[in-house]
Amino acid sequence: MKNKRPVIDRVIRSKRKTFGLEVRPNGDLIVRAPNTASQAQIDAVVERKAGWIKSTRIRLAQEYPGVTTRQFIPGETFWYLGEQYTLSLIDRQRPPLELEGCFRLSRHAQDRARSVFIDWYREETRAITHDLINDYTRRFGFRVNQVRITSARTRWGSCSGKNNLNFTYRLSMAPLKVIEYVVVHELAHLKVRNHSRSFWDTVARIKPDYHQDRAWLKQYGPLLTLD
Ligand SMILES: [Zn+2]
Repeated sequence: MKNKRPVIDRVIRSKRKTFGLEVRPNGDLIVRAPNTASQAQIDAVVERKAGWIKSTRIRLAQEYPGVTTRQFIPGETFWYLGEQYTLSLIDRQRPPLELEGCFRLSRHAQDRARSVFIDWYREETRAITHDLINDYTRRFGFRVNQVRITSARTRWGSCSGKNNLNFTYRLSMAPLKVIEYVVVHELAHLKVRNHSRSFWDTVARIKPDYHQDRAWLKQYGPLLTLD
């Protein structure tokens, strides 16, 4: 019997050449597709992978029970530096979002809560990575050109050939030592471009306990999101 085609929650098109499927902990299905892909092609890919999508949804529901799609309503929790804080709405406030024991969101900003949160995380991530990079470059002599904070969904950081570093705004949701690991990882790519033994040796020289941070990121990383 043919599998029923799963519902697609979001299609993200880009210059990529291949298709990519991602099932989020809340069960949402994200399809990454080339700009030129037709809806029929996208449907065909999803239909072919229906079995995998179903089993992944079941596995994630067991691994991350209670994760639902965010609505930015009071009582929901949001990550910051590895801790979860509750959201509350207050009548009027500038800036529209503040963290003081809990996340306090101005009621009049609730309809654009997602972008308010993204801006907030973006600034936090910018400040934290900026300080860490300054510290590491002083101690270990890296040469960094430009640092950008991106909206990357699956990558925590990346390093370009021109010594530019990118980090996703979601990074400040992680514990500080995990952020340190991600920053060290990208800095180490300035010296070793691949993931060879010598790359991991470079990481370990700066952050000997990086295995724990990698493991944390693997387990909890899928939860560090505004989806
Ligand atoms: Zn890497």
